[in-house]
Amino acid sequence: MKPFEPHGAAEGSTSEPRSDSPDPIEACAEHILGSLGEDIDRDGLRETPMRYARVMRELTQGYDQDPDAVLQSAMFDCSYDEMVIVKDIEVFSLCEHHMLPFFGRMHIAYIPQKKVIGLSKTARIVDIFARRLQIQERLTQQVAETIQGAIQPAGVGVVCEAQHLCMMMRGVEKQHSATITSAMLGVFRDNPKTREEFLALVSNGGRH
Ligand SMILES: [Zn+2]
Repeated sequence: MKPFEPHGAAEGSTSEPRSDSPDPIEACAEHILGSLGEDIDRDGLRETPMRYARVMRELTQGYDQDPDAVLQSAMFDCSYDEMVIVKDIEVFSLCEHHMLPFFGRMHIAYIPQKKVIGLSKTARIVDIFARRLQIQERLTQQVAETIQGAIQPAGVGVVCEAQHLCMMMRGVEKQHSATITSAMLGVFRDNPKTREEFLALVSNGGRH
């Protein structure tokens, strides 16, 4: 028999069904359904607590993943020292205030000093931080700081545009309004020209 492994012992294991013991989230989901006045034994809901537990584990699996470890395996020496921009990275996250989704796009730029990051890993870093309970401001900052720490570029700029279901579904704000957050480090903070170049390239209508 396999020894008991706490949740998240191995990367990627979190969305696997586990036969040994039910996920405690299942009982919580059952409780919520009951509190809503639902009949938890009706057909459509019978498997819902299990499905909910699995999907919550999947959508928060970033807690078990180490962005620095991902970056360590994806840094390359390079003499290129112009701005690198990765545009339109899809972001799906959960707001920590309501545990409802927010989603949108992130644009990342940096000016390398001897090291660059493999392009696909840039999106992977976004995913690791997005798959946690988040606020958009922190998500944006964490992505910027992680890249800054890993490859020590001359600077990093990150812009995130997202829509929040906790606002949209409740009609709290104009339903299609987007929240925009940004984090600027190094030359992106200190040099207005660099910052403007980045913002022009990622804004709608900007040249790619
Ligand atoms: Zn919210």
